[in-house]
Amino acid sequence: MGYSLLLISIIIIILIIMVVLVGVQRIKNDPYKDLSLDEWNCPECGFLVQVGSKCIYCGYNNNSK
Ligand SMILES: [Zn+2]
Repeated sequence: MGYSLLLISIIIIILIIMVVLVGVQRIKNDPYKDLSLDEWNCPECGFLVQVGSKCIYCGYNNNSK
């Protein structure tokens, strides 16, 4: 009983490590890393910009990062 529990724990830990490694690889290989995907509110007109760092309404450029 103790052995199978240990085995399951090891498998779960290996799975978590693999998921983390895949996530890190995706971040490193992301071709759109320069394109901000975070939503932000334009301070000029209040429009919620969903993609990019430039407001499509008034042209305000959000380069705070
Ligand atoms: Zn704006």
